[in-house]
Amino acid sequence: MEKKYDIIIIGAGPSGLTAGIYASRAGMSVAIIEMRFAGGQITSAENVENYPGFSEISGVDLSMKMQEQAEKCGAVMVYDTVTSTDVTGKEKLVTISSGDVLSARAIIICAGANARKIGISSEDKFIGRGVSYCALCDGAFYKDKKVIVIGGGNTAIGDALYITKFASKVTLVHRRDQFRATKTELDKLYASNIEVVTDNVVKEIFGDKKIESVDLENVKTGEVKRVDVDGVFVAIGQIPQGTEIALEVERNNLGYIIADEHMQTNVDGVFVAGDIREKKVRQVVTAVSDGAIASEMAVLYLQ
Ligand code: NAP
Repeated sequence: MEKKYDIIIIGAGPSGLTAGIYASRAGMSVAIIEMRFAGGQITSAENVENYPGFSEISGVDLSMKMQEQAEKCGAVMVYDTVTSTDVTGKEKLVTISSGDVLSARAIIICAGANARKIGISSEDKFIGRGVSYCALCDGAFYKDKKVIVIGGGNTAIGDALYITKFASKVTLVHRRDQFRATKTELDKLYASNIEVVTDNVVKEIFGDKKIESVDLENVKTGEVKRVDVDGVFVAIGQIPQGTEIALEVERNNLGYIIADEHMQTNVDGVFVAGDIREKKVRQVVTAVSDGAIASEMAVLYLQ
C-alpha cells in the first residue's frame, strides 16, 4: 500500500520530532518513521540539565513531551523500520518492513547515531552478560558490584556518576590523560568516589557466563593489569545510523551526512538533521535546531 505525505521524517529523536512539529504547524502532512521508540539517545539520559526551559528533566520525559507536541500538531508516528529508499526522483519513496511504501516530495533524515563499540572480540560475547551501552537501562543491575565505565566524554562521566548509586565500586577508564568532558562534569567526577584510570584501554574481557575480570593495558607503558569486575559500560561516542538507506546522499568517511547550513544535502528535496549530520557539536539543543531549520527549508522547497 502506498501512503502519500508532504514530508517524511526518518527518525523520532529530538531532531525528527522538532522537524515534525515545525512541518505540521506549517500545514504539511507529515509522517515520522521510528524503528524503536521516540526520543532516540536522549531516552538513556537520566537527567538533562542543559536544555533551555527545563533546569532538570529526565530524557524520557523530555522525549515524551516532544512526541506529544509533534502529534498534537498533526504529525503521524509510524513505528516501523525503513528497509529501502529511493530519494533521487521528485517523489521520494520510503519502503518500510510492513511492505508499505510511503511517498513525499521532501524527506528529512534524522536517523541519529548509535553506540560505538570498543572493538575487541570478547565485547560481543558479553553483550547482555556484563557489557552494556546504556547505564540508565542497566546500571541498577549492578547493585553492590564492581563496574568499569569506558570513555572520557560527558556520557562516560554521566554514566559513571549514575552507576555510583548502585555499584560498590566504579572505575572510569579512559585511553588518554585529557578528557573531552566539560569542566562541570569533570568537577562532579573528581568530587565523587569514582576511581579514574587514564592512559588505559580494555584489552580483553574474561568470564564464564558473566564478566569476571578485564585486562587493562596502559597505552604508554604497555603494562597489562587484570582487574576483577562484574560489568563494563561502554560510553565512547556514537556512529551514525541508517548508512544503508538514502545511498545517493553524500556522506563523510565516517558515514555522517554532509549538508549546508540549511540542512540541504546534495540531493534536491532531501534534508538532514541531528546527530547523523556531519558537525562538531551534538547536543539536544543542536539537534532540535537542525530539525527546525531542515523543516523550514523543506517547507520552502515544497512551496
Ligand atoms: P565524545 O564526547 O565523543 O567522547 C567519546 C570518548 O570516547 C572520548 O573520550 C574518546 O577518547 C573515547 N573513545 C572513542 N573511541 C574509543 C575507543 N575505541 N576506545 C576507547 N575510548 C574511545 O562522546 P560522548 O561522551 O558520547 O558525547 C557526545 C556528545 O554529546 C558530546 O558533544 C557531549 O558533550 C554530548 N553530551 C552531553 C551531555 C550533557 O550535556 N548532559 C551528556 C552526554 C553527552 P578521546 O578523547 O581520546 O578521543
